[in-house]
Amino acid sequence: MRKPFIAANWKMHKNIAESVDFVNQIKDKLPDPAKVEVGIAPQAFALYSMVQAARNSGLKIIAQNAAAEYNGPFTGEISLRGLHDLGTNYAMLGHIERRRLFGENNTAVHKKVKAALQMGVTPIICTDETMVQKEVNGEIHYVFQQLMSVLHGVSLDQIRNVVISYEPSWAVGVGQHANVALAEEGCRTIRRTIADNYTYEIADKIRILYGGSVNPDNIKDLMAKPDIDGVLIGRASLDVDNFLKMVNYLD
Ligand code: PEP
Repeated sequence: MRKPFIAANWKMHKNIAESVDFVNQIKDKLPDPAKVEVGIAPQAFALYSMVQAARNSGLKIIAQNAAAEYNGPFTGEISLRGLHDLGTNYAMLGHIERRRLFGENNTAVHKKVKAALQMGVTPIICTDETMVQKEVNGEIHYVFQQLMSVLHGVSLDQIRNVVISYEPSWAVGVGQHANVALAEEGCRTIRRTIADNYTYEIADKIRILYGGSVNPDNIKDLMAKPDIDGVLIGRASLDVDNFLKMVNYLD
């Protein structure tokens, strides 16, 4: 049984005071952590305060990015060692905005994933595709190639400790979500890829999230799909009421 995972990506929004205030407003209203896992990815400078504010609440704190190297001359990067030290639970790696705006490619994301696994920070491996890539590649989805390239050398033991997200570019940040059938198809393709390249047992356990304009109106339909184990939410997660409606979608 895969535990649902509702993760918020705050991108470059909210300062420290706003982030902590948000946690204080939601922490007593979260779903039972045994039934639904909830996480938030704040801006990097708010991670420490968020970890402190979330203590004992079950809320997981997620880094939006991390460097592949543990230390050294990498000005401006965020080290996985530091993230691990401060108690960050997850790191999103290869988000579509990192790829699109900052030139991250599969090789870079692959190195980050390997480093996160070694450091004990669970990677949320972000995959994406455009509608053109999807149509051109047909059954051999672009997302399949992207995923296999990022997972190169990730062992049977290590793959058990990853979360994967599917965020089609036509749905991220546009306010109009991919239709539920396409969202499910993307997540199912990823699960099949894991089954074909690892084992069915692993594919059955791995959690796959859908991301792209999820909101309080569409979350239930998405979460009802068999291969969608959770969602990654940008814009709609910034508001306390919307956030609480979404994390409590089972009520
Ligand atoms: C995201 O950036 O991961 C995302 C899913 O954004 P939005 O929900 O705003 O489409």
